[in-house]
This record gives sequence, structure tokens and C-alpha cells, in this order.
Amino acid sequence: MSRDQYTLADPTTLYPDIAPERQHQPEPGLDAELSPQADLGEDTYRGTGRLAGRKALITGADSGIGAATAIAFAREGADVAMSYLPEEEEDAARIAAIARDAGVTVLALPGDLRDAEYCRDLVARSVDGLGGLDILVNNGGKQIFNEDLTTLPDEQFDDTFKTNVYAMFWITKAALAHLKPGSTIINTTSIQAYNPSDILVDYASTKATINAFTKALAQQLAPKGIRVNAVAPGPIWTPLQVTEGQPQEKIESFGSHTPLGRAGQPAELAPAYVFLASPESSYVAGETLNVNGGSPTP
Ligand code: NAD
Ligand code: MG
Repeated sequence: MSRDQYTLADPTTLYPDIAPERQHQPEPGLDAELSPQADLGEDTYRGTGRLAGRKALITGADSGIGAATAIAFAREGADVAMSYLPEEEEDAARIAAIARDAGVTVLALPGDLRDAEYCRDLVARSVDGLGGLDILVNNGGKQIFNEDLTTLPDEQFDDTFKTNVYAMFWITKAALAHLKPGSTIINTTSIQAYNPSDILVDYASTKATINAFTKALAQQLAPKGIRVNAVAPGPIWTPLQVTEGQPQEKIESFGSHTPLGRAGQPAELAPAYVFLASPESSYVAGETLNVNGGSPTP
């Protein structure tokens, strides 16, 4: 590795201004088709044993932020169970192979997060296949922009809440039977939780819910020795954005309004998840760690 996440760099120029061209993919989208390709840390993330022997379940682990987190967790020594949609097998197979190269166990467990049975089964199969569970990363998510509430389909509103909120509830509830003191839960919220866009009413509402869920549950579980935290990304270059997460005209300038002046890369999110998963954050609970290019947050 010529550069890793510890190499001193100017954050404004760490990545070239990506200024992606307009592009559209059908949901759920693939990293394999994203142009330019996102940085998932494949060539740069260097593990130092921060999660040695841990057992992690990550949803949406095939691409974007979840994939970067899966690579980082594996290189830090954690066994990883990956949830993703069956249509994402190409991305998932690539990430599973990279993670296995780190010498850990990797489970591929495709299915639909909108299905409560799948969510409960996902936890059971993760526990069986990994021999336990002590890190849960709720990261899978759906974002479809809509300019006028009167045209927001009931089905989309329902799907967005099922994917972003209900799945987190079902999976966390099932996981609690297995999580011992020292375990950690990390939810993925968004800057949209407190700085919502006019065209993301349903999505932003789910992210505010995730933030509140995190802070409420953190108080409930802290006395049991289980820490619950959230990561709140800003604009990150992932398939979510080109599957109608944004209007086409916003893709070209994606992330340029942030104080750092550029979109973030999934590789820049992974260390936040590693920190919150690892015992080094032992006194951090109910926290939302913003990784958003410097935009002010409450
Ligand atoms: P992504 O498209 O790479 O990841 C989202 C993943 O969600 C998909 O890979 C898919 O596996 C999973 N998913 C969606 N619907 C599903 C379903 N019905 N069943 C099973 N899995 C399903 O995009 P990403 O940007 O890495 O998103 C990861 C998380 O980060 C999401 O929760 C998203 O809301 C959040 N987030 C992203 C940004 C950003 O700018 N990219 C900003 C803030 C928050
Ligand atoms: Mg994906």
C-alpha cells in the first residue's frame, strides 16, 4: 500500500473533484456500474487488529458505505455476515472475496429487508454461521427523491420506512437475544435527519427516526453493557445516488457545496464504524458521529 488511511493528506484534495457525469441505474444499483468508481478502501484500508475475533452483521454490505465497512472490519480481524439484495450478487461477491483475503469468515446472506421473516432469519443465520454476534451495523437503505408530496406513492413511503426503519427494528430486536456486554450496534442515519431536503420528505423522516431510535435505545441498553451509536454521512458517492436518490442535474455537482468542497468516498466512512464498533469507544453511547465534509450539525 503506497497510501493508507493514516497517511497525512489535505482533505480538500485527497480525492480529485469527481464531478460525475449524469447517470442512471435501476434500483438497487451496482458499484460495478458506477462512473467514476467509488473508493471502498480496497487499496488503502490497513487493519491494525482493532476488531480481532469480533463477529459482525452488516446490512447493505455489498456496495457503498456498507461495503467499505465490511472490508475494514475484515482487515481489523472481524468475521463478517453480509446482507444485500439478490440482484446485487456481483458487487457482493467482489466484496466477500476482498474480505476473505483478510483471512476471516465471510457469510453471504442475500434477501429483502422489507420482509420481517428475512430479517429474523438473517440474524439466526449470522449467529449460526459466525458462532455468535457482537457487532450489528444497520446500514441498508432506500432513497428515492420526489418533488411533490401529492405524487409520492404510498408504496414508496411504505418501502422507504420498511427498508430504513422497520428492518433496523426487526434485526435489532432479534439480535438482542445474542448480544453480550461489550457488543455494539451502529445505525446509519444521515445529515438529512436534521437538514432535510425538500425532495426527500420520506427518506429524511426515516433518518430522523433512526437518530431518535439510536438515542433512545442507547439509554435502554447502556446498563446492559451494549453501546448503540449512529453514523450520519453527508454526500457520499455510492449507487444510492444514481438510482433516483438525486435528480440528474444534482449529480454533476454532488457534494461540492460542503465546506471540504467535494463528495465523500465510502472509504472515508469505514473508520467511523470501526471506532464505534471497537472497545476504544467504550464511553461513547447514544452518539451520532457526523462524517459529512464539515457541514454544521446540531
Ligand atoms: P448503497 O446503495 O451502496 O447501499 C445501500 C444498500 O441498501 C444496497 O447496497 C442494498 O444492499 C441495501 N438495500 C436497499 N434496499 C434493500 C432491501 N429492500 N433489502 C435488502 N437490502 C436493501 O448506498 P450507500 O449510500 O452506501 O447507503 C448506505 C447507507 O448510507 C444507507 O442507509 C443510506 O441511507 C446512508 N446514507 C448515504 C448517504 C450518501 O450520500 N450516499 C448519505 C447519508 C446516509
Ligand atoms: Mg448495493
